[in-house]
Amino acid sequence: MITKIIAEELIQKAKKYVEKGESFAIVTHVSPDGDALGSSLGLYHFLTAYGKDNVSVIVPNEFPAFFRWMPGAKDIVIHEKYPEFAEQLLREADVIFCLDFNEPKRVEKLAEPLMAAEGRRVLIDHHLNPADFCRVAMSYPEMSSTSEMVFRFICRMGFFSLMDKNAATCIYTGMMTDTGAFTFNSNKPEIYTIISELIKKGIDKDWIYRQVNQVHTESRLRMMGYVLYEKMKLYPEQRTALITLSQDELNRFHHRPGDTEGFVNLPLSIKDIDFSAFIREDRDYIKISLRSVGEFPCNQFATTYFNGGGHKNASGGEFHGTMDEAVALFERGLQELNPKKF
Ligand code: 5GP
Ligand code: MN
Repeated sequence: MITKIIAEELIQKAKKYVEKGESFAIVTHVSPDGDALGSSLGLYHFLTAYGKDNVSVIVPNEFPAFFRWMPGAKDIVIHEKYPEFAEQLLREADVIFCLDFNEPKRVEKLAEPLMAAEGRRVLIDHHLNPADFCRVAMSYPEMSSTSEMVFRFICRMGFFSLMDKNAATCIYTGMMTDTGAFTFNSNKPEIYTIISELIKKGIDKDWIYRQVNQVHTESRLRMMGYVLYEKMKLYPEQRTALITLSQDELNRFHHRPGDTEGFVNLPLSIKDIDFSAFIREDRDYIKISLRSVGEFPCNQFATTYFNGGGHKNASGGEFHGTMDEAVALFERGLQELNPKKF
């Protein structure tokens, strides 16, 4: 038996929407990661198996190539590529599921059509401090992934039998990627009860791991070498590491979405480094990713200095200005909020 984490009242309200709705849109955050895609596609397969034939997954922008194998990935509508079609789907949806994000800002240019749409919004998410923008809000930051919440949601509605192998594969992918393949945020025993159920649905967890982690390009590996050799700066006094990449450097390595995924974690393998930052130039602004091990709340760092947020050990934010200014702000942050003191 799995504990009832999500409040019964929320499950029942959302269940009514599922039963009565005819057209469904599932929306997730910008630069979708494994959990964003896994939870969205998991729910998509469930709704399809339930008999709904008007279900779409809409993402703000392109997702990494190493998720293209996911069942249903080919049907995802990318707003940046097909804005009019994506917005039409949103307008026509009776029910809009908002997965793996806590405020409209996290879907960037999709925020406006999302908030203008008349469909009923249902939030399923595990980020702290959710904004009040959905009729039904299932927000449980203690959950290790939104995908795990989707599993719980489907079970609690009484539809476990409608979860097929495709849904299970997507849900597992999200659970795996949001916990670094169960190396952080993953001490809750029920995670493994759920995995056991997913395996019984026929998933091949070892194969899934390989699809996500062993399908990279040569240029990504060479960029990783460059980053580690030339671009990693250590701040031993703060137990911190920083990696930066400019747009020119990214171009040099023929950067594709997802190519820098995981770079921020690399310095954490150094003894005595337990806070790591990766700052890179995006097209419109500077993006910062933060990771910590142990007690240092890197989401506090992201909120205070980079207009962002996230989880205690994995967070991010953005900066509008030059790379030098972003680095200067980061270093000021290290003085004021020294990770060594935590
Ligand atoms: P990543 O470094 O993988 O882009 O993001 C890690 C986590 O940090 C995400 O799951 C999300 O919770 C959070 N995060 C990243 N960027 C932002 C941001 O700009 N704003 C907020 N609020 N959270 C972010
Ligand atoms: Mn997540």
